[in-house]
This record gives sequence, structure tokens and C-alpha cells, in this order.
Amino acid sequence: MLRSHCGAQRFAFNWGLARVKANLDQRAAERSYDLEGPELTPPVNWSAYGLRKDWNLAKEEVAPWWSENSKEAYSSGLANLATALRNWTASRDGRRKGRQLGFPRFKGKHTSSSCRFTTGAFGLVDYDRRHVKVPRIGTVRTHESTRKLARHVERGSARIRSATVSLRAGRWFVSFSVEIQRAQATSADSVVGVDLGINMLAVLSTGEMVPNPRRLEAAQRTLRRLQRRASRRTGPDRRIGRSPSVRWSKAQARIARLHARVANARRDGLHKLTTHLVRAHGTVVIEDLNVAGMLRNRRLARHVAGIGLAELRRQLEYKTAWAGTRLHVADRWFPSSKMCSGCGVVKAKLRLAERTYHCQACGLIVDRDLNAARNLAALVESSSSVSCTVTLNEPAGNPCESPPCGAAGTATGRPTWSTPRREATAHAQ
Ligand SMILES: [Zn+2]
Repeated sequence: MLRSHCGAQRFAFNWGLARVKANLDQRAAERSYDLEGPELTPPVNWSAYGLRKDWNLAKEEVAPWWSENSKEAYSSGLANLATALRNWTASRDGRRKGRQLGFPRFKGKHTSSSCRFTTGAFGLVDYDRRHVKVPRIGTVRTHESTRKLARHVERGSARIRSATVSLRAGRWFVSFSVEIQRAQATSADSVVGVDLGINMLAVLSTGEMVPNPRRLEAAQRTLRRLQRRASRRTGPDRRIGRSPSVRWSKAQARIARLHARVANARRDGLHKLTTHLVRAHGTVVIEDLNVAGMLRNRRLARHVAGIGLAELRRQLEYKTAWAGTRLHVADRWFPSSKMCSGCGVVKAKLRLAERTYHCQACGLIVDRDLNAARNLAALVESSSSVSCTVTLNEPAGNPCESPPCGAAGTATGRPTWSTPRREATAHAQ
């Protein structure tokens, strides 16, 4: 039934997309015959409301089996389509930041599997912490305990807004979007500098070192074996219209499961690190690393990607905002590694291989990453006492010489009622 609902979501999405596409093509063709304004075929209303209205008129004909699934399945597909089309037009007209978005594409059977419920009877079941309720599908046993969210709901500090079921690498998940009242975190006023790296995932200015578990490296051997196995089996070939063999599909599923396990372990480690940082310290200082640039280095790319730097920063940004603490992102050109944390002298050169920092001026000998972390912490400590002007982006040039005054980008606290977000993801059996 879960699969059926996800399929229904996909069907509605593709149905709406085909309609919008046909309409756009028709109007483009008419324009090429110099037709204008009212002479053209009227445009399709592609808001979620308009699409849903049209779907309800057409469903008896295009999907006589529609009543087998909850109406929410079709609505969520059409709502996703409306969002995709809105993002596409916004991106085309320059109203949307980031990379240019293309026109929405049809969803394949094997690429997407999720379905969102926003109305009807869904939520946690109150007789134990091991079941969730989904409209039409009924009560489903979960693998993980739902206790944390259940306690919030029972206390009245959280309200469940929607539930999304999804299939990821062979496992079913249910995610709840909740409106939650956040307890004010401890108001620690300590400052911590965090130097991120490959050898050590993070070195804190307090001297704490968080090792990089290198999960992808550990999985490489197994991964190679599984990929070699898949390569011996008959995969799909579009040129000759060959569909993949069952054995190939099974091998691919094993690879996907391994990748998912690595990703889960990485995400778990990042969450633990960022939660620890935000709970223990009032201000977290990190560097604005050029991740895109490092990914272009083919010797570093896999190691950099294996850390999840962007995800780490994203988590710090929202967690500090929730806790009402601060996140400082130091300027990209701040010489955190080259500067001495004892006397402030900046070295002209520092090779990457030099793991220990020797200062010629004051004779300080300290671990390279710890030196950088201390510099980052000092950046905020000095700027808060001297009230240094905070700039968002320093222009390029020769900024390596600039003194420690380039603190940039501050995220500060928000009110306790945060926007709906995914609170708990329970894994269904
Ligand atoms: Zn020194």
C-alpha cells in the first residue's frame, strides 16, 4: 500500500506535467503562426489548486483506479509539480538565487518514491512508542522508537503538520513535519573556534579533537567488490532497448544500501558534533572554506566530499539559530593557519605538510590545526571587545596580509516558534 501511494503520487505528477507541457507546446506553435492574445489556447492554471481541480475532473477517465489510494497521494504529487513549475519560472526570470533550474522532468518508476499526507488521521499512536498512523494505509510498526516526538506531542509543545512516507535504499521512512516550541538553550557565553580538516574532522580551540571516521574509505573495499559484481551482470542498455536483469538490479540495490549506510553514519557523526558545539558554547567560529574549489582537486575531492562540510555548516547555521547562539563565519582570506596564535605574526608561507606550527617570532610550538582553531576563536573574542565592523564579503585582492578583523556573516537567534521542519524520522519495518 505504501508503494501504491507513492506510485499514485508519481502518476498525478506526471499527468499534470504532461498537460502543462502539451499546453505550452500548443501555445508556442500557435505563436509561430502569428496568433496573439485571445486567439491562443488559454494557458493551464498550474497552481496547486488549479491542478487539483483539473485532476478531480479528469481522474475518472485517466485513472479509474484512483479510489484505491488516499486523495492525499494525488494532491501531494500535484503540489510538488506546482512547486517545481514555480521554481522554474522564478529561476528563469531571475527571481530565484542559485543555479539555473530546468523545466521539471517526468518521474521514473525507480527514481522517486515518496508521498505526503497533510490532512486526515495521521500521527503517532498513543498505546506504545512503536507505531504510526497513516491515512488509508492504517497503523504501521516502526523500527525506531517514536518516544522523543511523542513526549513533545503529549506535553503539547509540538503539533504535527504533515507526514511523508518515502522509500530510500530499500527502507521505508516516515517523516513528520512539526511545529515545535523550543526550550531556550543554556546561555553559555564561551567562544569556540573550529578548524575543519581531513586528518581530524574538527579541532576545537579548547584542544578537543574530533577524529574523521572516514567511513567512505572503510567501505571502499566492499564497494569495489559489489561494483565489480554488478559489472559482470546484464545492465540496462537504452541503445538496444535492453532492460536490466534481476541479478543486476539486486547487485545495484546492494550498492545503494552500502552508500546509504555510509551516508547515515556520516550524518549521525555530523549531528553529534554540531549539537555538542551549539550546546556547549555561545559562539561558534568556523572558516568560510572554498569547498567547490577543493572538490575540483581530484586528489582531495573524495576526502573533502566524505566529510560533508556543507552539511556541517548548514547544521551549525540552523542549530545556532534555534539555540539563540551565534555562528561566525570567518572571511575566506583570514590567515587562520599562517598566523601565530601566541603573538599574531603571520607567516608568508606554510606548506600543507607542516603539521606543527613553529613560530620564529615568539618560539611557540603548537599543532597546526589547534593553532588555526585558536586564531578563529580569538577573531570573535577580539572583535566583540573592540567592536570591529562586521563585513559580509571582503573584496579579493591580496587579503592574506589583513589583520584579524575580517569576521563575517553572523546568524543570531530567532523566536522559539520555528517554521515547520522535519522533527523525527522513524524507520518502518
Ligand atoms: Zn608567535
